[in-house]
Amino acid sequence: MKPALFLDRDGTIIEDRGYMHDPALVQLLPGAAEALREVQSRGWPLIVISNQSGVGRGLIKPAEMEAVHNRFLELLQEEGVSITASYFCVHRPDENCHCRKPSPLHLQTAAEEYGIDLKGSWMIGDRRSDILSGKNAGTKTIWLSNPLFPVEEGLADFVAKNWQEIMPHLK
Ligand SMILES: [Mg+2]
Ligand SMILES: [Zn+2]
Repeated sequence: MKPALFLDRDGTIIEDRGYMHDPALVQLLPGAAEALREVQSRGWPLIVISNQSGVGRGLIKPAEMEAVHNRFLELLQEEGVSITASYFCVHRPDENCHCRKPSPLHLQTAAEEYGIDLKGSWMIGDRRSDILSGKNAGTKTIWLSNPLFPVEEGLADFVAKNWQEIMPHLK
């Protein structure tokens, strides 16, 4: 069993441009690729867990979601980073599915599929629901703060303003 890095995508690895329907909107956040490359070199799986309710709301077509994610994977590949696996919830909040963050379901599924030690792992995200999904799965958590969502003090293990501030915590 090894630790993993669980990651939200929009607002955490790439700029949050709302309901992402166009691959041209995908832009890596400063320092994200370097950080992920370093973590990858430790042999930790990199697992993306993303809520994409825009699909369930009819605002993003499934093919658009796929194109955006493929562009995301391609940009990281160009930086030498391979995402191990990506899990999506495409439901609307009112559908009460079992996979939408703050549910830990996708983290738990990944842990089984890849032999991950959840207690030694980290979840990084920019919203309350990301942090809660990590806590619900038993991981450590880092809240990457941005102007879009107010940070709730005391919820995550650490709050960081950028990837440079995240890295010293990932041990
Ligand atoms: Mg986000
Ligand atoms: Zn779902």
